[in-house]
Amino acid sequence: MSGVSTDQLRGRIRGQLIQPSDEAYDQARRVYNAMIDKRPGLIVVCADVADVIAAIDYARENRMLVAIRGGGHNGGGLGTCDGGIVIDLSRMKGVRVDPTAHTARVGGGCTWGEVDHATHAFGMAVPTGTISTTGVGGLTLGGGIGHLSRKHGLTIDNLLSADVVLADGRLVVASSDRNEDLYWALRGGGGNFGVVTSFLFRLQPVKTVYAGPTFWPLEQADGVMKLYREFINDAPEDVNGFFAFLTVPPAPMFPEHLHGRKVCGIVWCCTGSVSEAEKRLEPVRQFGKPVFDHVGTMPHPALQSIFDPLYPPGLQWYWRADFVKELSDQAVELHVEHASRLPTMHSTMHLYPVDGAVQRVCRSETAFSYRDVTWAEVIVGVDPDPANKDRITAWAKEYWDALHPYSAGGAYVNFMMEEGQDRVRATYRDNYQRLAMVKKKYDPTNFFRVNQNIHPAS
Ligand SMILES: Cc1cc2nc3c(=O)[nH]c(=O)nc-3n(C[C@H](O)[C@H](O)[C@H](O)COP(=O)(O)OP(=O)(O)OC[C@H]3O[C@@H](n4cnc5c(N)ncnc54)[C@H](O)[C@@H]3O)c2cc1C
Repeated sequence: MSGVSTDQLRGRIRGQLIQPSDEAYDQARRVYNAMIDKRPGLIVVCADVADVIAAIDYARENRMLVAIRGGGHNGGGLGTCDGGIVIDLSRMKGVRVDPTAHTARVGGGCTWGEVDHATHAFGMAVPTGTISTTGVGGLTLGGGIGHLSRKHGLTIDNLLSADVVLADGRLVVASSDRNEDLYWALRGGGGNFGVVTSFLFRLQPVKTVYAGPTFWPLEQADGVMKLYREFINDAPEDVNGFFAFLTVPPAPMFPEHLHGRKVCGIVWCCTGSVSEAEKRLEPVRQFGKPVFDHVGTMPHPALQSIFDPLYPPGLQWYWRADFVKELSDQAVELHVEHASRLPTMHSTMHLYPVDGAVQRVCRSETAFSYRDVTWAEVIVGVDPDPANKDRITAWAKEYWDALHPYSAGGAYVNFMMEEGQDRVRATYRDNYQRLAMVKKKYDPTNFFRVNQNIHPAS
């Protein structure tokens, strides 16, 4: 090893430097998915941009592997690594809302719950995911799919600019008129290009939503899924509903007789007038015999955090995903068959709509390629008990194997495990080559490679 010593690095930063011998190490190395058990050589909990630059310089000079950690939620554990250095942004918080410009400046280490809280006070929101503890960094850079996607696009469609520390330690701004190639690549290309220390988002006027779940018994799933596929295609953009297979959790919000029952459901989120939404949803909510229907007006952050208690950090997770254009009758049949074998209470399958506003942005306009599909499908085996790791993994893989032939080919990067280069290329399709060129320009040595990796063009 050469270059800056660990002691010198300690002197250069305002944040915290955590090594394996430190008491704080075991807690600090943990990520959200307890199936990931990596042991970095060093964790730098950065307090500011200067710390990020110091950590990057240290890693470069000492030829260390680098992982960037935002919220630590990545399923494949891409926010950490073995032996290298983790640049942990979790202390880099702060949300500044400009209510006149309808923008929010967000620190690179924020979670979405923090952003929702800050923007809700002004009756505004950034379109994001469905769990409030997820990090802004990873979710945004991969795309960002959620309840508001049909109406307001992906999270990246609302990203106006980003401050990025590059592999050589320089800070650059990426936006529509500064480093445009980097701005293009950041919107879907993940953490491949540098550490984003600050995001500027456009805010959308969302304060309350008409939202909540409707559940049907699994025996009715075939009919519900077929109705859903037609319904969502024709629904106005301010009506969103993602489809799910799940087991009703033993939570007070659900009647006791449903606890532990396997069901299919739609989780609604409507942003238009309540009376219009009621009319629109009526034919679906009255289909068959729903066993639970709990839709009403709520503050947007309430919907965003509704599933948080069900999925605390520390569970075992195994993910498989695909994009889906059409849901054929055969695919529906296979879904129902595999859903009937949901292995544990937390395991689930979701189909998130990615049509509407998402499709008004052209496929080559950002790095996120799959804008011409209808859903992002994700199958997740989840359980608190490490003894069930193999069971949930096998179920998710078998389910995915059966449905993959009915998919569009690639998957949403943020729903993937470490699945190899072919899957990464399949996901970026014809945007991959351009991404590789941008990678070559901004990170020619592939310094940032703990991610869904884009190799620098040769
Ligand atoms: C329970 C749960 C629910 C989810 N729901 C949704 C959903 O509804 N919609 C959706 O789109 N996704 C969803 N996701 C997926 C989520 O988008 C990814 O897991 C994402 O990687 C999490 O981001 P993070 O910052 O928390 O992750 P981390 O593990 O901290 O980071 C993941 C990767 O992102 C990159 N990264 C993170 N921050 C930065 C940064 N500031 N600068 C540069 N690179 C960075 C790094 O490459 C890192 O390796 C969900 C995940 C979980 C666990």
